[in-house]
Amino acid sequence: MTVAARILLVEDNPANLELVSYLLEAAGHIVLIAEDGRQGLELARKEPPPDLIVSDLRMPVMDGFEMLRHIRLDVALNDVPVIAVTAFSMSGDQTRVMLAGFDGYISKPIVPETFVGEVEAYLKAGRRKADPPADP
Ligand code: MN
Repeated sequence: MTVAARILLVEDNPANLELVSYLLEAAGHIVLIAEDGRQGLELARKEPPPDLIVSDLRMPVMDGFEMLRHIRLDVALNDVPVIAVTAFSMSGDQTRVMLAGFDGYISKPIVPETFVGEVEAYLKAGRRKADPPADP
């Protein structure tokens, strides 16, 4: 297991919120909870920034895509990886998530046996490097 991290979890579904926070806390991590993108943004901007943000996409008030746009415009949050948890099963939608600038995604429904390992791999990897320019 990796070093305990501060992880911001942004999720509007109470059952998912409970399960994911339970799994992360059981693994020794500190979980900050927000129930929509606006709350998530406010928490992310508190000092110190979280080590990782795990976010749902479809939420009231502010969705995951809009929250990510605000985060990526905030230099104080430049080093924080943001991972989408997505119920989308189409590969095109996963492409959309990556094009939007998320550093990765985990598919819903989450698999409790592997979820923490996936999160910790993203913690270790950090921000995704920009795609290299295409060959001319
Ligand atoms: Mn949702």
